[in-house]
Amino acid sequence: MGKLIFFLFFLAFSSNSVFAQQYDLVIAAGRVMDPETGLDAERNVGIRNGKIVRISSEALSGRRVIHAAGLVVAPGFIDLHQHAQGIDSQRAKALDGVTTALELEIGVPDVAEFLKTKKGHSLIHYGTSASYVGARALTFGTPLPPGEILPKSGLATELPATTEQIMRIEDRLRAELDAGGLAVGMGIQYTPGATRLEVIDMFRLAAERKVPVYTHVRSSGPVDPGCIEAVSEVIAASAISGAPLHIVHINSTCLRDAPQCLSMIEGARARGLDVTTEAYPYIAGMTFINSAVFNPGWQEKQGGISYGDLVLPNTGEHLTKERFDELHNSSTPQTVLIFSNSQEVLDKVIPDPLVMIASDGLEGHPRNAGTFSRLLAQYVREKRTITLMEALRKMSLMPAEMLERSTPAARQKGRLQEGADADIVVFDPATVGDHATFQKPMEPSVGVHYLLVAGTVIVDDGKIVSDVYPGRALLGRALHH
Ligand SMILES: [Zn+2]
Repeated sequence: MGKLIFFLFFLAFSSNSVFAQQYDLVIAAGRVMDPETGLDAERNVGIRNGKIVRISSEALSGRRVIHAAGLVVAPGFIDLHQHAQGIDSQRAKALDGVTTALELEIGVPDVAEFLKTKKGHSLIHYGTSASYVGARALTFGTPLPPGEILPKSGLATELPATTEQIMRIEDRLRAELDAGGLAVGMGIQYTPGATRLEVIDMFRLAAERKVPVYTHVRSSGPVDPGCIEAVSEVIAASAISGAPLHIVHINSTCLRDAPQCLSMIEGARARGLDVTTEAYPYIAGMTFINSAVFNPGWQEKQGGISYGDLVLPNTGEHLTKERFDELHNSSTPQTVLIFSNSQEVLDKVIPDPLVMIASDGLEGHPRNAGTFSRLLAQYVREKRTITLMEALRKMSLMPAEMLERSTPAARQKGRLQEGADADIVVFDPATVGDHATFQKPMEPSVGVHYLLVAGTVIVDDGKIVSDVYPGRALLGRALHH
C-alpha cells in the first residue's frame, strides 16, 4: 500500500514536472539572433504567458511548435516614429516585422483619449509622447481638429509664446505626461514662432519629469539657419537642461549635411551628452503641405528643390506654383512627398553605427509599410554595408535602449533572451524585402513568416491573423508601476 501511494505520488509529481516543461509555444530550430549578447546559433525558444522562458539547444515541447529551420528568429522591430496608427497601417507594420510602433516625434494632442481608443484594439504595441505642438495650439486658442497632429501654418505657429502662455503649455505637457506620455515630442519646425528660450523651457520640463525630448528640429537644409544651427540648438538645450535628446529623421533634416550632423551628435555623446538619432531609407520625405515647413524659403531648406519636386501621393501629381499656393493656403490637411534627398546620402547615413532605423510612417509613403524589410533587403543582402546582426541592433535593441529613458518596461524589449517579452519576428533572410513603392505605398513586405506580439501569433505562415489584438500600451514613468 505504501509503495502504491509512493508510486501514485511519483506519477503525479513527474507528470506535473513534464507539464511544467510544456510551453504555450515553441519556435524550433531557428537561427536565434540577439543583438545584445551576440548570440547567433540554432536554438529552440520556449514561450509561456507572453514571455520568453527558455532558449535551449535541447528540443522543447509546446502546445504549438513553429518549425523555423532556415529562418532568423529575432526581437520584433521597434519603430519609435510612427504616425499612422490605424489598423491597416498596423497590419502593414506587422508584415514588415514591427511589434511596437510609437508616435514620439510629435505625439498625439490627447494622450488619455489615444490610449482609450487603442486599448483592446491594437495588433501591435503602441504609445505616444506628450505633444508640445498640440499643447501650444491649445494654449493659443486654436486646438488641433480631431485626428490631426500638426497645425496649419498661421498666427498661432508664427507668434512667440508669452511667459504666461509658456506656463500654460508646460501645465498641459505635465498633464499629458501624467496621462501616460512617454516623452515630450517637439516638432519645432512646425511652430517657428517658438523662441530659443521657449525651446529650452520645454527641455527643462522634460528634465524635471525625467523623460527625453524627441524632436524634429527647427530648420533643415544647408542654408544658415539650416540643419547645422538647428541641431546645435537642441544639443545645447539638452546640455543646459539635462534632458536626453532624440533627433528624428537625420536623413531628411540634414540631407547632404547629414554626415556633418552625425559628427556633431558623435561629439556631443563623446562629451557625455545623451543624444541619439534615427533615419529611414528613402530619398523622399513627406509632410502636410499647409504646415509651416512650407513657409517662404522652403526650397532652400529642402536643399534647393522646386515645385515639381513636390508630388501628391494619391495621384502622382507634380505641383506647380499655382497648385502649391492653393494647397499651402488650404485648411484641409494634404500630405505631399518631398523629393529632396539622394541615394548617395542615404547610403552614407543608414549604415552609420549611431543611426537607428525608424520609419516616420504615414499613409501615402512607402516608408510606412517597407522601412524595416528594406534595410534587410537593400543594405544587408544587396549592398552588404550592414551585417545582419547590426541591422537587428538598429531595429530592435537601439530603440529599446532609447525607450528605457521613458519606461523600465523597455528593458524586456529589443532582446531575444530568457525573461524578455515574447515580441518576436521570424523571417527568411534570403527573401525578406519591401514591396511598397511611391505608386503602391501600402503594398506589404514579404519574408516575415511569423510575428509574435506578447506571445500571441499575429502573422502566421506569412498571413495576418484576424481578430487578435494583443498590442499593449507602453506608458511613461507617471503611469508605469
Ligand atoms: Zn518630422
